[in-house]
Amino acid sequence: MRLGRIGGVVSAIALAATMTACGSSQKTVDAGTSAPAGAGGAGALIGVTMPTKSSERWIHDGDNVKQQLEKLGYKVDLQYAENDIPTQANQIENQITKGAKLLIVASIDGTAITSQLQQAADAKIPVIAYDRLIRNSPNVDYYATFDNFKVGVQQATSLLKGLGVEDGKKGPFNVELFGGSPDDNNATFFWNGALSVLQPKIDDGTLVVKSGQKDFKTAAILRWDPATAQKRMEDILTKTYNGGTKVDGVLSPYDGLSIGILSALKSSGYGTSGQPYPVVTGQDAELASVKSIIAGEQYSTIFKDTRNLAGQTVKMADAVLKGGKPEVNNTKDYDNGNKVVPSYLLDPVIVDKSNYQEVIVGGNYYTEDQLK
Ligand code: BGC
Repeated sequence: MRLGRIGGVVSAIALAATMTACGSSQKTVDAGTSAPAGAGGAGALIGVTMPTKSSERWIHDGDNVKQQLEKLGYKVDLQYAENDIPTQANQIENQITKGAKLLIVASIDGTAITSQLQQAADAKIPVIAYDRLIRNSPNVDYYATFDNFKVGVQQATSLLKGLGVEDGKKGPFNVELFGGSPDDNNATFFWNGALSVLQPKIDDGTLVVKSGQKDFKTAAILRWDPATAQKRMEDILTKTYNGGTKVDGVLSPYDGLSIGILSALKSSGYGTSGQPYPVVTGQDAELASVKSIIAGEQYSTIFKDTRNLAGQTVKMADAVLKGGKPEVNNTKDYDNGNKVVPSYLLDPVIVDKSNYQEVIVGGNYYTEDQLK
């Protein structure tokens, strides 16, 4: 199985974008900011840095942000760093040198670009953290993301639904837990959200983490690498599930990892009518994973509409560059170790076989044809 594949269909999706805000019930407030007023209007250059093209979602994000900024008349320098931290740091420095008036950064390691952000601040260039919080720097003006704790809650809720716990089944069910990249601030939010739902079920014996690997540090997968997740699942299956015991559920925080996990399970004999796959969660509604859900392999994913995240970020950038105050709806949860960054949180949505038609196809994220 090919890992980290890229769907070839993303631009059609981006074009189908409807720029409606998500159905968030969060209150909208204004936050004060130290960002310079009126640093540049239409025609200004905006630097956009994304982590990698090896995951489809970031291609959607980059395309959407670029198109929407260009629509407002901005010039855009869009860069991908293939998950290499020094490359991303260089890209940001280059954008500052090229005269960017604002930076939008989806960081690889949230702690590793402090000196670049200081250079930006020295040049009075405002910075918006995109999807992932940039940590340990005072020079982050705004943050646009999805409600990351809620993503974890939804992943765990869906795992319980798939196991039948929500319908009253008592188990005990054998589950294994995977976490995201420890250098990505989001990963601990996903984990904490998920464990807020799962821990009580572990405590009352409904769920059993048979490998004993229950802490984030052990479960975390550096750089969200599918092959690392596959290897960890293989090791767990060999060491823990070698005597005929079956794994019933796997908490996976990202579709790419779910593909690696399913691949390990397949090699170990799962995925047949006699031994079906366990309930495996995910995130991002990547094309291959939505297909896998339709085929009855992966159980669920969390859909985060990148068109809306791009739209909200572009609105923020435009407001800052015109000297206004961007809309935010959270001014307490995202402390980056230096300050609480005013944030706009969008709502994620659980997608499984029962609602992919309505949410994904109905929302024009993928067409029916793309899912064949
Ligand atoms: C994003 C997720 C994504 C993960 C791996 C996280 O920061 O919020 O949507 O699955 O990175 O790319």
